[in-house]
Amino acid sequence: MEIRYWEPHVETADRKTIEKVQLKRLKYMIEYTYRRSPYYGRKFREAGLHPTDVKSLRDIGKFPFTTKDDVRGYGYPAGGDFLCVPREEVVCWHMSSGTTGTPIISGYTRHDYDTWMNLAARSYVTAGVKPGDVVMNLYGYGLFTGGLGLHESAFLVGATVIPWGTGRTQALIKSLVDFKVTVMTGTPSYQYYIASLVKDMNLDVEKELNLRVTMPGAEMWTEKMRQRIEEWLGLKAKGGGSRDIYGASELCGPGAGQECIYEKGFHFWIDHFLLEIVDPKTGEPVEAGEEGEMVFTHLVKEATPLVRYRLGDITVLDEEPCECGRMAFPRCLRVRARVDDVIHYKGIKILPSTIQEIILRHKEIIEYQVVVDKTKLPYEFIIRIEVPKSEESSLLIRRILNEFKNSLFIEPQIEVVEPGTLPRFEGKSRRVVVKEG
Ligand SMILES: [Zn+2]
Repeated sequence: MEIRYWEPHVETADRKTIEKVQLKRLKYMIEYTYRRSPYYGRKFREAGLHPTDVKSLRDIGKFPFTTKDDVRGYGYPAGGDFLCVPREEVVCWHMSSGTTGTPIISGYTRHDYDTWMNLAARSYVTAGVKPGDVVMNLYGYGLFTGGLGLHESAFLVGATVIPWGTGRTQALIKSLVDFKVTVMTGTPSYQYYIASLVKDMNLDVEKELNLRVTMPGAEMWTEKMRQRIEEWLGLKAKGGGSRDIYGASELCGPGAGQECIYEKGFHFWIDHFLLEIVDPKTGEPVEAGEEGEMVFTHLVKEATPLVRYRLGDITVLDEEPCECGRMAFPRCLRVRARVDDVIHYKGIKILPSTIQEIILRHKEIIEYQVVVDKTKLPYEFIIRIEVPKSEESSLLIRRILNEFKNSLFIEPQIEVVEPGTLPRFEGKSRRVVVKEG
């Protein structure tokens, strides 16, 4: 496979070189936030900390965490106490898609914006995107960073972008064919939906569809879902695949990490974000190779940098060298869940990704929905599955129940519903519905 780089000198540097860059940037960032951010100035002083306390990368552990609530409480509006530059230097604002309450604000200076576009371009190239590619951008354009983040950065790479956003899915599929689209972004759920429609059209995907690479992001997905997207769109036959892009508006937007052509978890761009993996309960670092919560410190950000920010994403880090040569950049073995998304049921913590792995193992099932009803006593745990009428469902239900018992020690109610009756998703999915009592 052909390996291409956007910034070869950075991407192929060894870990020692990158760590030197990290330490230099970290010292600068702590000093910068201490002097310029009213929030961090106060917070560091209260904790008796001074920028000179940073002598090694490990010293970041002395600093307090920043939570989403901190950013909501002190960063709204217009960056609030997190803003480190005069307001006039902010060229744009983005906001989190937070469903309730105060949004989380991220400001960008011109330099922040250019840095972001550069990282998104690095991510495109890492995913296998080349000059001449045609990108169908299926992230929403607006306050959410997905759409704009993968728009201008595509120009940098030399690709053409179609700013579709979401919706009008039948017309979208026609455009994939008519415009000879080679790359598709968007949430995994939306890509999955499109792929399932393409499958039902009986298109000769290897001949009639030019799609080679998809870049799912902005929500949890699983290996099983990847396999289906790749197969139904015929990506592998064209030397491509479905490759995870990672990001969050608080970090920069999409492009904080990207899976390479070997598809073994996304490389995290640690030259821009210092990454720690901590135990979500204790906040202490986990042992190498153990699952934990990602904690970020901006190393390159002017407007609203964050120190030890807890986004809540749970992952496992793989430090094994990757065949693509990006040795210094560890791979995150997929974001398994956001801490807030973990389902608590009868004292057991259930990751939505584990449910998806179990369900999509069965090729008869096209779509599913999980309903946890805590208004009922005892709590109800229902899994609705769409199965074609022709399939024998009682055997399938028994098999699924066994798998849930064996791997999660729970026995959900399984309901079989008609194909096409469960919701499909053009943005982020809502396959898990929790009704609180
Ligand atoms: Zn790699």
